[in-house]
Amino acid sequence: MTVFGKHLTSKREDKNLTQRKVAKAVGVSQPAYQAWESGKTMPTIKNLCLLQEVLGLNGQHCLSLMVEDVTPKQEERACIECDTLYVGDIYCPSCEQPSGETLE
Ligand SMILES: [Zn+2]
Repeated sequence: MTVFGKHLTSKREDKNLTQRKVAKAVGVSQPAYQAWESGKTMPTIKNLCLLQEVLGLNGQHCLSLMVEDVTPKQEERACIECDTLYVGDIYCPSCEQPSGETLE
């Protein structure tokens, strides 16, 4: 689940609304709405504006959560080429090969 999806779910539950009701008010299908809550997809800006009206969301706050969801996490990695340990994306800062594997 994404942080945005979690936020969306809690806001809907606060209002005691079903997924179907919110989906109908926004004009999407229930599975489409459910995908937003589960984090499979994200609403378009237009649908986010509608959600803002239906659920009384703070659009600015939602956008910042969505940005958080799409920002790659800085993970601890080990390069399989040169054994360097570092925190960052897949490119190893030492040999500059895309050989960094996460340690998890
Ligand atoms: Zn390396």
